[in-house]
Amino acid sequence: METSTDGTAEPSAEAAVPPGSLSPSRASDFMQCPLLYRFRVIDRLPEKPSEAATRGTLVHAVLERLFDVPAGERTAPRAKSLVPGQWDRLRESRPEVLELFTDDPDGERLARWLGEAEQLVERWFALEDPTRLEPAERELFVEAELDSGLKLRGIIDRVDVAPTGEVRIVDYKTGKAPRPEYAEGALFQMKFYALVVWRLKGLVPRRLQLVYLGSGDVMTYDPVLADLERVERKLLALWEAIRRATDSGDWRPRPTKLCGWCDHQALCPEFGGTPPPYPLPVRAAGERLPEAERGDSGQTPTAPVGVPESGDAEQGRMGPD
Ligand code: SF4
Repeated sequence: METSTDGTAEPSAEAAVPPGSLSPSRASDFMQCPLLYRFRVIDRLPEKPSEAATRGTLVHAVLERLFDVPAGERTAPRAKSLVPGQWDRLRESRPEVLELFTDDPDGERLARWLGEAEQLVERWFALEDPTRLEPAERELFVEAELDSGLKLRGIIDRVDVAPTGEVRIVDYKTGKAPRPEYAEGALFQMKFYALVVWRLKGLVPRRLQLVYLGSGDVMTYDPVLADLERVERKLLALWEAIRRATDSGDWRPRPTKLCGWCDHQALCPEFGGTPPPYPLPVRAAGERLPEAERGDSGQTPTAPVGVPESGDAEQGRMGPD
């Protein structure tokens, strides 16, 4: 789908397909708002690049590339010197990011934005010492299939492996650390990755580490097997709810203060809009898509936890962990 300036949806050349896998971001989307998940995963509506998200991508690229240089040269000035080159690469690979600065003819805002990226890179050196790190993996794409057929996938920023074989999963955040009451939500993504690593390698990561460059905080969590089993049950329940919504076409909007960051208000009933026509076949309750059309095994997981049996007002409402 393409969205025109008046908020109506125009058909896309790309045929919509049912969701076939789950990533931490898309799982969080569904928990935040099922309609947002539909817009992103099924309708694939375009979204405008944001300064914050693009800066995050740039900073991640710099931190990843810094490990290409010898350990002793991984200093803050060297890292900051990588910012302009990585910005050039980002502009080449994703030209749409230039939209962010079309109204900035003298380049003042761009210079400030690049300066903020440099500050975030510099702050990292107060939190970790890259001269003492040799990551086993950087920007690692992982994918694992659960016994139910659900595919989990994602990209892990950094994997460290100690000489003892213990694994640490590290994720960089360019925002601020959440307040303690929201820590569980922040850890959801890390437990998701830990579950994937456990399923792939048969070992439970020793430590999950979130590095918040925006506030200069490091949050760690040492998971145990029961944590990962709990996350797996939650994800199976979530996937079952997504399947029900996919089959019925019933994707409920769930307004929260996060709607302020949603690109799709013009198409959202909560804001007086109308979603585009649902692009997938609608099935009656109990009628399932043939396996070949589902993009997964089509098996139904047992004992869903925390998700209602039918699409009701609670759709998508479940804790992140
Ligand atoms: S505006 Fe809010 S309720 Fe509507 S789709 Fe976006 S996140 Fe959901």
